[in-house]
Amino acid sequence: MLTFETWQEPAHDFEVDDTYKGALSTLEWAYDTYGDEVVYACSFGIEGIVLIDLIAKVKRDAKIVFLDTNKHFDETYEVIEKVKKRYPQLRIELKQPKLTLEEQAEKYGDKLWETEPNQCCKVRKIEPLDESLSEAIAWISGLRREQGPTRANTNFINLDTRFESVKICPLIHWTWKDVWRYVSRNELDYNVLHDRGYPSIGCAPCTNPAFTEEDLRAGRWSGQGKTECGLHG
Ligand code: SF4
Repeated sequence: MLTFETWQEPAHDFEVDDTYKGALSTLEWAYDTYGDEVVYACSFGIEGIVLIDLIAKVKRDAKIVFLDTNKHFDETYEVIEKVKKRYPQLRIELKQPKLTLEEQAEKYGDKLWETEPNQCCKVRKIEPLDESLSEAIAWISGLRREQGPTRANTNFINLDTRFESVKICPLIHWTWKDVWRYVSRNELDYNVLHDRGYPSIGCAPCTNPAFTEEDLRAGRWSGQGKTECGLHG
């Protein structure tokens, strides 16, 4: 078994010309290599819906973690319930931050997502993910190269020094159209906010509709000088 200390990029060429653009073979490799020590931190956005369907083909009882900041849209919680029904064997955990919203407001002031969004993401996303990944060797992410300049160099397998683990990104070659084609052909449930102009969906206070084709994440933290929550730095 590979560990973080002995990690090196696998000399494994994933087939990228197949139907799944390498996604299925990457997942098969990940679960064959790391077994139960693979965690998928899923935001239940549209890429997440695709990845869950692919993961269920490879490992029916895979562990999925949703970082429940308690600030998500109702529609996000609704799609999670639908996914749970469709894939009852998946182990889906709604991971809670250490601080409730009330405790956070007491400690840092009200509406931290407006005053210090980086600190808010740290408390409500990064620290809980860190905890979830402390026992995992590898984690799966739905990053796609097309999503923007910060993701253009992402590989199938990435050494993640931040979490001391291996970050597996099966969808790097998928386009926005590939994602939607897959969802449509397989009649997958998805967050209805996508139909209302939200290509990328995070917490409600930090997500606005976006209509720029060149950067589908433009609606995240718009006007706050922030484009990433810090999970993929
Ligand atoms: Fe807080 Fe916004 Fe980050 Fe969610 S996305 S954790 S509300 S700053």
